[in-house]
Amino acid sequence: MYRVTIDREACDGVFACLTRDPRFVEDDDGVATLDPTADPVPPADADGGTVRTDSETVVGTFEDSLVDDARQAAEACPFDAITVEELGGENA
Ligand code: SF4
Repeated sequence: MYRVTIDREACDGVFACLTRDPRFVEDDDGVATLDPTADPVPPADADGGTVRTDSETVVGTFEDSLVDDARQAAEACPFDAITVEELGGENA
């Protein structure tokens, strides 16, 4: 299990993340959000995850094997707006 957090304050809409992981999409405010069902659809082994959004953050929790995609998105972000954390445990 892993958690992906987007700091909406830090995000400046460069959208480098989108090309690394298609679960990142532009929201109505012009900053990044997470939509695991967005087009282009993620690989078949993506799970739907759980996505929470508030005014400052978007937090997605996933149990699929795509943590490296999320990490690449985080590394590509010029504002370090994306944090990827392994939550450990296979007992979900
Ligand atoms: S790369 Fe970073 S700044 Fe750009 S849209 Fe994605 S999260 Fe926002």
